[in-house]
Amino acid sequence: MSKDTVQNGLVVSMEYTLTVDGEILDSSNDAGPLQFLAGYDNIVPGLEREMVGMKIGESKDVVVLPVDGYGEFDEDAFMEVPRSEFPTDMELEAGLELNVSDEDGQHQMAFVASFNEEVVRLDFNHPLAGAELQFNVKVVGLREASQEELDHGHAHDEDHHH
Ligand code: ZN
Repeated sequence: MSKDTVQNGLVVSMEYTLTVDGEILDSSNDAGPLQFLAGYDNIVPGLEREMVGMKIGESKDVVVLPVDGYGEFDEDAFMEVPRSEFPTDMELEAGLELNVSDEDGQHQMAFVASFNEEVVRLDFNHPLAGAELQFNVKVVGLREASQEELDHGHAHDEDHHH
């Protein structure tokens, strides 16, 4: 298979705009084109699936439903934690993002949904859960991934190794 279209194992550079409910949430105008290694779950599945086969210079509008994006909003993905489990000097506010670890030491992102003196209600939904994502994407570069990138499962850029 020729390497001039988006396919697994290639590093794709794309310009993009993400719009939700008519509001632009994210765009490559701010930080420049996004690079990702195709085929390794680096971008939402509904977008990657639609980008396979695109050529350099090609652009496309893609609508991604929650099931292929950040998931449906889950009413059960909330947890109430005693206020006493948080440091007393911690300033809580609704929307605050927390890195929570469970008994097994697994880390998960959560947001403070609400709180009072006794209880903090945490929301484990992704901020874009339930959202219909409207992308406009343009492929601006394609290259073969290095072995290191394939081993890591993500793209590296020149000045940013991890
Ligand atoms: Zn890496």
